[in-house]
Amino acid sequence: MSHSSPTLAPSPTLSLATLNGASEDGFISLLDGVYEHSPWIAQRAFAVRPAGGFASLAALKHAMATVVREAALDEQLGLIRAHPELAGKAMVAKSLTAESTNEQSQAGLTSCTPEEFARLQQLNADYNARFGWPFILAVRGPRGDGLSRQQIIDTFARRLNGHPDIERAECLRNIHRIAEIRLNDKFGIVPTLGNQVWDWAESLARFSDPGFAENGQLTVLYLTEAHRAAAAQLADWMRECGFDEVGIDAVGNVVGVYHGEADGQTEEPPRLLTGSHYDTVRNGGKYDGRLGILVPMACVRELKRQGRRLKHGIEVIGFSEEEGQRYKATFLGSSALVGRFDPAWLDQADADGVVLRDLMRDAGLPGTMEAIQALKRDPARYLGFVEVHIEQGPVLNELDLPLGIVTSINGSLRYVGEVRGLASHAGTTPMDRRRDAAAAVAELILYVEERAGAVPEVVGTVGQLQVPNGSINVIPGRCRFSLDLRATTDAARDALDADVRARLAEICERRGVSFTLERTEAAAAAPSDAAWQSRWESAVDALGLPVHRMPSGAGHDAMKLHQAMPQAMLFQRGLNLGISHNPLEAISNDDTELCVQAFLALLDGL
Ligand SMILES: [Zn+2]
Repeated sequence: MSHSSPTLAPSPTLSLATLNGASEDGFISLLDGVYEHSPWIAQRAFAVRPAGGFASLAALKHAMATVVREAALDEQLGLIRAHPELAGKAMVAKSLTAESTNEQSQAGLTSCTPEEFARLQQLNADYNARFGWPFILAVRGPRGDGLSRQQIIDTFARRLNGHPDIERAECLRNIHRIAEIRLNDKFGIVPTLGNQVWDWAESLARFSDPGFAENGQLTVLYLTEAHRAAAAQLADWMRECGFDEVGIDAVGNVVGVYHGEADGQTEEPPRLLTGSHYDTVRNGGKYDGRLGILVPMACVRELKRQGRRLKHGIEVIGFSEEEGQRYKATFLGSSALVGRFDPAWLDQADADGVVLRDLMRDAGLPGTMEAIQALKRDPARYLGFVEVHIEQGPVLNELDLPLGIVTSINGSLRYVGEVRGLASHAGTTPMDRRRDAAAAVAELILYVEERAGAVPEVVGTVGQLQVPNGSINVIPGRCRFSLDLRATTDAARDALDADVRARLAEICERRGVSFTLERTEAAAAAPSDAAWQSRWESAVDALGLPVHRMPSGAGHDAMKLHQAMPQAMLFQRGLNLGISHNPLEAISNDDTELCVQAFLALLDGL
């Protein structure tokens, strides 16, 4: 399998000005090879080139992705089929395009072991048989410097099980990623800010709790050894970035301050507060929370490098706890900042009986309410709070958008309930004489789906469903269920809640069964502050990207800060269908570059 890999013909560095000034033929030929054997994409992108030209490379990438998304199904399939198999016959016969040859050899596919090569051939055959097109993977990966052969084989095997519609879309997104990297090469662009953040996140993930670390999994629970090591690492990096003050506070938050011009004078202008959490769920991802610490760190590093001070100081916080994994409390870090740290939490014990107060003291923290209450911030000293976070959902991915602007963090209500009917013989009980508890809940589930689906602002889910002691030949006498209702406004949430509860009562009445419903959680919606939301919008617009507004379905630290000051969030697209709380969580260096640029633009606009 060893042969010398042909190198790409050296191409002159392309500029956006050249592309924007080119004729249609010139435009198409300048973009030749970006999308494999598919000049129609450049042709249609030319047709939508704005009068003043594309505002940025990101705008061009988005225009081409939009062309593909809006193309006919057979055109999309044609684009996918224009690609060679990975380590396939064309690679062996050296008949790939220069771009593909470069990518496949960089990924080490030209030097597979015989076993790896055989495995890839089998995967190629199985994949083609299942989907009817070749498996497409951007083998240069999310950092642009190449996936390992094992990563490629693992991804291949995983995606073989996908639904064809989802897999087709995933192939197209990988094609856009391939095009993005090829464009970067053509333009001579290296996303250095994005790479910095990506590398920090990768490095920070080396700290993981015992029981998970051994298996290569990432778990960082509150105040474990790995948690404290991660905090120390963040603090070190903040100092290297050039923050003026760096410390770890009484709840384990890492706090870095980069002073504004006027700092040190008697009247310090209010600071911008930003940050997110560095704890993780069990076997979580590397970017949830952490991205929101690392992106503003990269901004401060950039300001320091340029010798710049803003009028306002920036305070970046790595919140110590958000996920509620170790104690029956969430947002331990951000609660302290808004004076909502419940004193009763200090007496809570974790699953191993470790009391929070003792844990804090063992970690070298005071473990007293006095010290924790001292962390409360005076809102008058802050402009507001902004938070960058991965989307943790599929929306931006589907729209081929790197960034989205959060309009509101959803309010939520959670319940656990049980319907009680009559467990009776599945053979002898006629259909019109049954009191089937599970059928009643099934009806409720379908109603939640219909009601929540009818308006855009709400979502509803029955995530747990259980027939206690159920039997194959017994009509369910009991059925337990959970209910999770969320909405962008409290009014929409409460309207959904009222309708769902009324329907449950009606279903149970009609079916002659009874029910209990216990509310376990209620969180108010946190709409974004209009001024801060529009600052994010201007920042994204300045990058030449469409402004996409969306609610946040998940809760975030910004929800807590919302109780004290104006807040707004920026979402970055996650790869792998936006999956999160999962090791497959991923971001690209190019998206992250845009995210840092957007944050810098926001700072510039202050
Ligand atoms: Zn998070």
